[in-house]
Amino acid sequence: MVSQLKCPACGSVLAKVRFGEPFNCSHCRERLEVPAYYARIGYLVALLLSGLLSAVVGFRGIALFFATVVLSFPLAFFLAGPLSLIVPPKIERYLPKDLRLFQR
Ligand SMILES: [Zn+2]
Repeated sequence: MVSQLKCPACGSVLAKVRFGEPFNCSHCRERLEVPAYYARIGYLVALLLSGLLSAVVGFRGIALFFATVVLSFPLAFFLAGPLSLIVPPKIERYLPKDLRLFQR
């Protein structure tokens, strides 16, 4: 069950998405973003896996802590693709922060 991420503006399938920063739709150039909460969940999953992996490899105590933090960054990067297929993020149109104030 692989769901494809679609642009909310033109409906074309997005080849890739980025977490934590806005990106352009490859088709209509609309500025899009993955909601911050989704990026946070993705990072938490990476952190959890990183901790498990570091413990399995044999890190203990403070070394385990540092290994977990360091390893979580590449893991978050590699997880972004598969995770967005398993739990598709809701792609939104990117709005500058100051504009959002007027929307509420
Ligand atoms: Zn588009």
